[in-house]
Amino acid sequence: MSAYLIISLSIFVSAAAVIGAALFIVRGFTNDLTRAESDLANLALALQERTDGALQSIENVLRDVVGRIPQASLKADEFDRFAASNATKATLVGASHSLDQIIRIDLVNAQGRIVGSSNPHLIFDPIYLTDTSYYRALSTDTSLILYLSEPIRIRATGKRVLSLARKIKDTEGNFLGVIVSTIDLSHFERIYEDHLGTRSLAITLYRRDGIILAHSPNAKSAVGHRIWKPNTPLQRMIAKNSPTLIRDVSWIDKKERLVALYPLANYPGGIAVSRTVAELMAGRRLESRLIRFIAYLMDIAIDTVSLLGLKHVRTGILRAASESYLSRHDILTKLPNRLLFTEELKRTFLAAQRSGTDFALLLLDLNRFKDINDNYGHVAGDEIIQVVARRLRERLRRSDFIARIGGDEFAIIQRPIRGRPQITDLIMAIQAAMKVPCTVVNTEIDVGLSIGVAIASSDGKTSTELMRSADIALYAAKSDSNNSYRLYDANMKDSRTERRALEGALKSALENRELELHYQPILDLATNQMWGCEALVRWKHPTKGMIPPLQFIPTAEESGLIGPIGDWILEEACSTAMTWDLPLKVAINLSPVQFKCRDVFASVNKALNISGMPAHRLVLEITESVKLTDEASATLKRLKALGASISLDDFGTGYASMSYLRSFPFDKIKIDQSFVRGMTDSSDSRAIIKATIGLANDLKMSTTAEGVETEEQLNALRLAGASQAQGYLIAKPMPRESIAAFIADVQRAQQNNRDEQSPTRAIA
Ligand code: C2E
Ligand code: CA
Ligand code: CA
Repeated sequence: MSAYLIISLSIFVSAAAVIGAALFIVRGFTNDLTRAESDLANLALALQERTDGALQSIENVLRDVVGRIPQASLKADEFDRFAASNATKATLVGASHSLDQIIRIDLVNAQGRIVGSSNPHLIFDPIYLTDTSYYRALSTDTSLILYLSEPIRIRATGKRVLSLARKIKDTEGNFLGVIVSTIDLSHFERIYEDHLGTRSLAITLYRRDGIILAHSPNAKSAVGHRIWKPNTPLQRMIAKNSPTLIRDVSWIDKKERLVALYPLANYPGGIAVSRTVAELMAGRRLESRLIRFIAYLMDIAIDTVSLLGLKHVRTGILRAASESYLSRHDILTKLPNRLLFTEELKRTFLAAQRSGTDFALLLLDLNRFKDINDNYGHVAGDEIIQVVARRLRERLRRSDFIARIGGDEFAIIQRPIRGRPQITDLIMAIQAAMKVPCTVVNTEIDVGLSIGVAIASSDGKTSTELMRSADIALYAAKSDSNNSYRLYDANMKDSRTERRALEGALKSALENRELELHYQPILDLATNQMWGCEALVRWKHPTKGMIPPLQFIPTAEESGLIGPIGDWILEEACSTAMTWDLPLKVAINLSPVQFKCRDVFASVNKALNISGMPAHRLVLEITESVKLTDEASATLKRLKALGASISLDDFGTGYASMSYLRSFPFDKIKIDQSFVRGMTDSSDSRAIIKATIGLANDLKMSTTAEGVETEEQLNALRLAGASQAQGYLIAKPMPRESIAAFIADVQRAQQNNRDEQSPTRAIA
């Protein structure tokens, strides 16, 4: 028995060690490869920018010359004379000398004849260029302005050159001719040679159709041929014209290469930078042979183990192998996890610094994911995460990197980037993808994302700083209701630091009596009389002025201060209502957190006892975010038994409004302002309002429409059968003294009405 145990244990230990070593090597190799990929991509980007710039400066010279041609006064037959003049000749000579890489500049007339040149040699016989590709293209294609020719070898000098030609038109748009520059391609080859660091590196400048314009180090054999063999992935990728990485066997040296492609920004062509896969693997060849040998031994070991019936040893070995993968990946989405992400971010940061390129870090967070989990269950939540991961991944390039770094948090490294528009383009694409609801467990669920962005070149000196900036931007995006994404800027305050300061100030606000309640009248539509008021809290900050509740209630909730603040609101509102001339209702908002940190029944009871207000005047407003646990339902039922009413606030804005409504016998539904606002021009809003009122009638509940601002809305709501209306049209929320006066007026008006028996409006 003990020998058996020792054998199995020793096999297990050695096997696990071997597996560990093998995985370590494989992982090292994968890391090398990712690093090589991003280095190649970065180099391609850098060279693309330089090449584009070099072509741009030549084009600027041509433009400048064209700018001096008096196109307005020139007819086609006068162009020849103008071009041949001494003044024009001087211009052309000056222009061709302005850049080293320009060998000559010629003016060609509409018939294809050279009529002016920077060339010092005199021309005796007319030279026609009607056979050149640029003349043919520019004289026939009306929409074409610029043409990049295939490369030519000048027999006399052996120089490889290229023509960059621009069309010249008169002011009426007629074709006058062409200005063409002959460019020395060795200029580009010299730029590329500077970068030929490693042995197998190759750099190619190609035209959109695949023709090689410049090649380092094999200019002689490659230039003029196509970079791809027909019908290969390389041909398709070049036709696609977007940056990518691809593996391809080069026809030039017959070697398998990892190729980074980067199209030029302003010219029909691109840069390809490549290294042989063999070189990338070189340092690892010995190791990979070792791995193969080890794997062979392992197979024997596992077979022996299986033969011996030691199943548990076999499972143990396999588990050891998978644990290494698991520690760096997320099982649900198969994406890299936070650990791998942090490493990758560091690597990308260093690589970008080395190559002088830029990248963006995007942090993405699902909105209200907790609500989704609570309402639909964790299975649905998991499915949503997978759907989102898939949609995000589909929007990325191969050079980008994505990880799931938390429950509902993703991170993207967008690399390389060439300016902000590229980032916003990606964000727009992501947001467009998220507009489609996710269908999980047969339900369509809308999922929103908040995105915070930091840019490597400006928003952090280290990867840690960059991460912090992106995080601050994400927080800003989350707290900005109009914007689902934010780019970090140095003025952006860390809202968490701000929140901590707010929390401190809020604590003393209650003691310093800085909180006050305002009251907004609610109109009963059946009787046209005032039904009651909703109490709305405000913070009269000693320096910042009046702070609206949405700016401090969340902080109060997070810090638990909502407990004592909520108690104060209940007592203050009930006491104030007792001072009114009419026994109107008072509606008070309850936060979901109050149900967690307080005995809500006891708090309400205390407020009623202190104020002496009868319970039937009290209405408690809760939103769907109050989880209707058995305990919460019991509390609400006891409050109802006491005589208070319960309203469902902000109806229609939550995830499961309908099922929520049926889970408790509410007395009243408050239709959210967004539907009232949409009423006049959205048939959807009208339909929702109608359906809600119908449903409320069926369930014997009343309805209050919120946010009524126009007569039109009020009339429509009357017609639709709403029970009450609340909004600026009727009255804005007002402080304690004003509401008392307001109610006194209403009371007087009602008195007069009764006295005169005339039905005029009681309030307005
Ligand atoms: P709510 O419960 O939906 O309150 C209605 C909000 O709509 C109030 O904003 C009110 O001033 C505003 N409002 C009323 N009529 C109109 C209108 O015609 N047009 C527009 N545009 N707005 C109108 P307020 O006072 O800023 O309160 C915002 C939210 O803060 C409330 O939404 C509620 O969720 C929360 N809140 C306010 N007071 C309290 C409180 O005492 N306790 C708790 N827990 N939450 C409160
Ligand atoms: Ca409310
Ligand atoms: Ca509301």
